Amino acid sequence: MTMTDDRSSQKQAFGADVARLLHMMVHSVYSDKSVFLRELVSNAADACEKLRYQAIAHPELLGDDASAMGIDITIDRARRTLTVADNGVGMTAEEMTEALGTIARSGTRAFVEGLQGDAGNPDKAQDAGEEAGEDAATGAGGAHLIGQFGVGFYAAFMVADQVDVISRKAGTDTAARWSSDGKGAFTVSPVDLADAPAHGARVVLHLMANADEWLDPANVRRHIREQSGHVPVPVTLHFTRP
Ligand code: ADP
Ligand code: MG
Repeated sequence: MTMTDDRSSQKQAFGADVARLLHMMVHSVYSDKSVFLRELVSNAADACEKLRYQAIAHPELLGDDASAMGIDITIDRARRTLTVADNGVGMTAEEMTEALGTIARSGTRAFVEGLQGDAGNPDKAQDAGEEAGEDAATGAGGAHLIGQFGVGFYAAFMVADQVDVISRKAGTDTAARWSSDGKGAFTVSPVDLADAPAHGARVVLHLMANADEWLDPANVRRHIREQSGHVPVPVTLHFTRP
């Protein structure tokens, strides 16, 4: 279903399986929510690697931005945001609609199928419900599956009640913002080039009230070191002192 708010902004409903996964993320009592950071850093690193590879044959893709590829993580306590930005290959509006609106990833697909398997077995679902509390409300004892498969980008909704992705694809001269509260729909709208990276993506997490630990630079740094030490591009943490 596509609803058009105006000429430029498109509000679109997530598919049923994405909606289900998001519901699970939002209501997850899964203790290790830190997987969201690993997933976002890994996406940012993938995007950098992709551009690095494409730029071998097409150096013009790097444009005026001769700066080295990297990932910047920024904590803004006043706005309660955690931003993961990369100057990798980026996405067009259409690519965001596809990549961040459907379940394309095989690991995530397996995760959703795992949930359906659990839900289809009343005994198992009930057992899981007794053990997992709130997760049972999602119709799944699937919390353990989050760690098993990784859920990619959608893991952001474990700690954020709104996520914005501002992106410009390398070699293009338009930029767009994908935005969602994780409650069934997302919008994609154009943004000024001045408000977007030269190329790459900026993922802005508006943190939930109970996600204060992700405004703590020491905590974020520790998780980056633990999870993302192998990442082939530099990761820099930025914050202002409270
Ligand atoms: P996966 O990384 O396994 O493909 P994700 O759910 O993590 O699954 O991401 C889905 C897709 O969204 C990616 O394959 C990629 O196309 C796109 N994507 C996510 N983050 C970024 C990013 N920072 N830059 C460019 N594309 C991205
Ligand atoms: Mg990923």
